[in-house]
Amino acid sequence: MNGKNVSLNMNVRGLKPSATLAINERSNKLLSEGRRIFKLGLGQSPFPVPDSVVNTLRNHAHEKDYLPVKGLHELREAVADFHRRKDHINASAEGVLIGPGSKELMFLLQLVYYGEILLPTPCWVSYGPQAKIIGRNVQLIHTTFEESWRITAESLRRYLEKENDTYRPRLLILNYPGNPDGDTYSMEELQELAEAAREYEIILLSDEIYGQLNHRGGHFSIARFYPEGTIISSGLSKWCGAGGWRLGTFTFPKTLSWLLDAMAAVASETFTSVSAPIQYAAVKAFRGGPDIESYLSHARRILRLIGLRCASILQDANIRVHDPRGAFYLFIDFEPLREALERRDIHGSRDLCERLLTETGVAILPGADFERPIDELSARLAYVNFDGAQALAASREIPIDHELPDSFLDIHAASTIEAMQRIAGWAAEQ
Ligand code: PMP
Repeated sequence: MNGKNVSLNMNVRGLKPSATLAINERSNKLLSEGRRIFKLGLGQSPFPVPDSVVNTLRNHAHEKDYLPVKGLHELREAVADFHRRKDHINASAEGVLIGPGSKELMFLLQLVYYGEILLPTPCWVSYGPQAKIIGRNVQLIHTTFEESWRITAESLRRYLEKENDTYRPRLLILNYPGNPDGDTYSMEELQELAEAAREYEIILLSDEIYGQLNHRGGHFSIARFYPEGTIISSGLSKWCGAGGWRLGTFTFPKTLSWLLDAMAAVASETFTSVSAPIQYAAVKAFRGGPDIESYLSHARRILRLIGLRCASILQDANIRVHDPRGAFYLFIDFEPLREALERRDIHGSRDLCERLLTETGVAILPGADFERPIDELSARLAYVNFDGAQALAASREIPIDHELPDSFLDIHAASTIEAMQRIAGWAAEQ
C-alpha cells in the first residue's frame, strides 16, 4: 500500500473541506503572518447567545443521560409551539426531529429520500456537496440578478415542463432569508411557489434558519400555503447565535412522517441524540419570552443598518447588489466591471476572490462555491466582522422604535465599512 486513496468512496474522492471553513482557515493563516484581514468569509452570527439561554445551559450541565433519538419531548413541544406562534402553522411535537445542526439533518434527509434534488442557485454551499456524497441526482436551476437571485413559480414551472418526466419524485430546497443572497420572498411569491409545488407533487425543504433574522421581523413560511408538502428547517445557529452548540430542527407535517421515521432510524445508528444539556437550553430559546424578542429586535435593527450601508457603498462603485432584507449576507456581482477586470486577468469568481484577498485583505467567497457558473464574477460576503455584544449593548440604549444613527456605524462597524470601501476602491482600479 502506498498510503494513497486506493479505495476511497468515489463520491468522496476529490471532495474538499466545506468552502466556508476553508476561507476561515486561509484568513487565519494570513492573520498569523501579520496581514490585516477583513473576515467576511464565514457566515457566523456576531451576536452572543441570549443570557437566559446561556444560564439555562449552565443549570443543565449535569444532564448526562442519552435522550430520545427524535429529541427531548419538551423541546419538540417547544419547537412545534414556536412554529405555531411565529409561522401560524399547525405543527405538532410528533412532527419535530432534533439533530446536531440542521446541516446534519439535511444530510440525513437526502440520504433517506430517493428522488431528485432541485436547487435554485445561488444556494448555500453544502446542499450540493451533500447530494454528491450520497450519490443523489441534483438539478440546478440558475436564477438571475434581475430575479433577485430567487426562483419564481414561473421559472419552476418552465423547468419542470421541459423535463420529460414531469412527476418524478422531487425535493426542492428553498432558503429564505437566503444565504448567500440576503433576500427573501414576499407572501405572494411563496403562495405562487406553493401552488406550483402542489401541482407537481414536489416536497419542499424550506430552510428557514434565518427566518427570525428577517430585518423587519416579517418572516412568512411557505408551510402556511403548502403544509402537507413542506418540511421546515430551523435551529439555534443563526437567530440565537449558537452555531457551535450544534442544534438543528426539522418540522414535518403528518403526511411526511415516513421521512421523519426513516431519518430517526438512521440517526439511531449514527449520532444517537443531540447533547443533553444543549437540548435543555434550547427549550428556553424556542419558548422565547420578552428578553429573546428584545434581543431579536435589536439584532435585526443592527443588521438592517449595516447591511443597507454596505450595499449602498458597493452599488455606488458599480457593483451589482440588492438591498438586503434578512440574514447577514450580500451576493455581489462585478459583471458591469467585467472588461476592466478581464484586463487585470480576472475571469471568474475564484480569480476575483483570490485577488481581492491578496490585494486588499478582504476575505469573501466566490460565487462558484454557491453553484454559480465558474466564469461569473459573483461573490458572497458576510457582514459579520463586528463586535455583536458591544453593538447590542449600544443599540439597547436607543429606543427600539427609532432608527439607529449613522454614527452607530462609525463606532460599531468601522471595520466592516472599511472592508466595503476597500472593495469599492479595488473595483475602481484600472
Ligand atoms: N442552512 C443555511 C442556509 C446555512 O447558512 C447554514 C449555516 N451556515 C445551515 C443551513 C446549517 O446550519 P446548522 O448546521 O448550524 O444548523
